[in-house]
Amino acid sequence: MKIPKPSNFIEEIVVQDLKSGKHGGRVHTRFPPEPNGYLHIGHVKSIVLNFGLAAKYGGITNLRFDDTNPSKEEQEYVDAIRKDVKWLGFDWADREYYASDYFEDLYQMAIKLIKKGLAYIDDSTPEEIAQHKGTPTTKATPTPYRSRSIEENLDLFHRMRNGEFEDGAKVLRAKISLDSPNMHLRDPLLYRIKRAHHHRTGDKWCIYPMYDFAHGQSDSLEEITHSICTLEFLPHRPLYNWSIKQLEIFPSRQIEFARLNLTYTLMSKRKLLKLVEDGIVNGWDDPRMLTVSGLRRRGYTATALREFADRIGIAKRDNMIDMALLEFVIREELNRIAMRVMVVTDPIKVTITNYEEGKEELLTIINNPEDDTAGSREVPFSNSLYIEREDFMENPPKKWFRLAPGGVARLKGAYIIQCDEVIKDADGQVTELRCTYFPDSKSGQDKSGIKVKGVLHWVSAPHAYEGEVRLYDRLFNVEDVGASDLPMEEIINPNSLIVIPNAKMEPALKDASTNTYYQFMRKGYFCLDPDSTPEHKVFNRTVTLRDGWKRKK
Ligand code: ATP
Ligand code: MG
Repeated sequence: MKIPKPSNFIEEIVVQDLKSGKHGGRVHTRFPPEPNGYLHIGHVKSIVLNFGLAAKYGGITNLRFDDTNPSKEEQEYVDAIRKDVKWLGFDWADREYYASDYFEDLYQMAIKLIKKGLAYIDDSTPEEIAQHKGTPTTKATPTPYRSRSIEENLDLFHRMRNGEFEDGAKVLRAKISLDSPNMHLRDPLLYRIKRAHHHRTGDKWCIYPMYDFAHGQSDSLEEITHSICTLEFLPHRPLYNWSIKQLEIFPSRQIEFARLNLTYTLMSKRKLLKLVEDGIVNGWDDPRMLTVSGLRRRGYTATALREFADRIGIAKRDNMIDMALLEFVIREELNRIAMRVMVVTDPIKVTITNYEEGKEELLTIINNPEDDTAGSREVPFSNSLYIEREDFMENPPKKWFRLAPGGVARLKGAYIIQCDEVIKDADGQVTELRCTYFPDSKSGQDKSGIKVKGVLHWVSAPHAYEGEVRLYDRLFNVEDVGASDLPMEEIINPNSLIVIPNAKMEPALKDASTNTYYQFMRKGYFCLDPDSTPEHKVFNRTVTLRDGWKRKK
């Protein structure tokens, strides 16, 4: 097989390994989420990287739930993670694993370390341990338990497992170093006592391995060749390599890359959970959340998310990606696939005085000018219409191309109209425009010779379907949310959700489906929300047609 050209530093490592025949030319990666929340856009980067790398170099990828912390993990999250990875288009076949399946192996590994004199039971409190640890520039002092005999350590560890000690009374620590400048090597904790129900192992265990004594070992047990993780694990690597050497287990190679940071968003499951718990959003799949489920509900496609992950690339240094790039990518995709329809969100009524009352005419309008196969549909026209309030101005500035008293504009796919009379209520609010239409100006066969620049979207009033529209904007109004120390109330965008309960829609939208993506002409891209019922359709705005954020600031 010809080895594909590498396009980032991780692929370069893989190519070198393939060329040198390391691990018999095997490439085996894994995506290892902790099931303590829903996946977010940062995880998408990791998923695309791990599955993409294996696919490109003829390898395979495991899905492994890193479920060593019993108190924060739940089946709900496992199910959501599975669904999201599948939806993104990746397949782990039958390789779905759980770190908790390795609890017995990990226990045996701990015993091996104890037997080698490389681990001991410490009765110190967390405060005492911290104190003895010292600082990167000062040496640690051993706690009184560091010199326990192997026999005593084996006995105590066994009794820890049997539940003879209180939670927190003892821990197992590796015996590595008192003076390493890398604090992760100063006798790190390996096991703790914690009586907590585990979502898979139930109450079988009352001792649990620490993340650092489970993650790397799980990679070795699965014979993962390339263990890809984010940069913050760089200082943990010496500890993982120490374990590999002392336990004589499979030498998975850890490679660190820069995590995705995105402007105007939070990217930690813990913080996202807080938004859910505090009711700032309506759940993990709130369309304002940058979770996979939120993005899906918002109308993002799996293709666009994968494309985004490819475009941002893989770096060795932390950086911040502009949210505008994510929006650009989805716009590009939706522009290709979205069906163009007409919806008026803030209507004024237009009466065509020279069009026969009660007459109905079906106009053929193409569904998507970017897609020849998308076909066309028939849209009813009558003498009573709605147009957007902002498309009319009583005293317009120069270069106003939309409707004004005495002025003309084209109704999309229909006729040119002229505004003859403006009707207002007692408060001076415009309630109706009385217009005439030019019968020979029909779209596609216009013989009127009238020059118009403005094209307005419209909906026939007697045919209109009233549906709900939810306009979303960014949840935060500061760029670097993670770095902001302002209280949450001050950085939340108060206009992140605007609901229009009864927008006027062309009748086709009554039968809108979740499989179709829509462009509401001049309003943005929309999709059907699962809150919809057959009688009441709800549409989410995925993204505006253009990047309006910079202007608004
Ligand atoms: P969080 O702080 O959001 O919980 P995490 O890293 O603790 O993130 P895990 O469930 O442990 O979440 O992550 C699973 C995988 O996804 C890990 O390999 C991790 O490195 C990767 N990952 C998490 N966040 C990002 C991100 N922002 N960019 C790229 N990869 C990420
Ligand atoms: Mg984590």
